[in-house]
Amino acid sequence: MESKTTEPTPGKPCVFFDRDGIANVPPTTRYVEKAEHFHLYPEFLQALQVVHAKGFVAIMITNQKGISTGHTPQEELDAMHARLRHDAELVGAPVLDIYVCSEPDDRHPDRKPNPGMLLRAAADHQVDLSRSWMVGDHGTDIAAGQRAGCHKTVYVGTKAIEEHPDYRVDHVADLAPLFTNHLPDWSATEARPCAE
Ligand SMILES: [Mg+2]
Repeated sequence: MESKTTEPTPGKPCVFFDRDGIANVPPTTRYVEKAEHFHLYPEFLQALQVVHAKGFVAIMITNQKGISTGHTPQEELDAMHARLRHDAELVGAPVLDIYVCSEPDDRHPDRKPNPGMLLRAAADHQVDLSRSWMVGDHGTDIAAGQRAGCHKTVYVGTKAIEEHPDYRVDHVADLAPLFTNHLPDWSATEARPCAE
């Protein structure tokens, strides 16, 4: 059925991903400070492929206080994210954008559990939050997704958390099967996600 031209263009469905512990091996100290210590999980790239196959875009949402404290130089962060983007593109599942909050103040609207980065990403990229998912390995990720109005949240890990995610899996390796089984397939309607 054709939609009326007067209807607003619906936004894209998105899977928002936390970074450390989801895309890459989490730091053994407080921060991943050097690009040489940034190790992507191959299983994350597999999950990204499912996300794309289902017609979703993927956006990273990461708190990186180490930038403001000086532990993580900006050029090291840039090198990490260049590699992340490169490796995602290599498997045909590009990361649309990466949002970084370097603010140390927990009251800052961008710092998770606050939803500022997700809301900004949604505005910047015409994301439909009501069809979007948030994935993370801390309660703050789940809270940020819920506060932003995401449809579903996924907690990756085995610890008890106060928040109530829609799904819990133990490992990053469980994400691709979870998405295969539970992520709606919008690929037919989102084949041209930038169409006017
Ligand atoms: Mg994390």
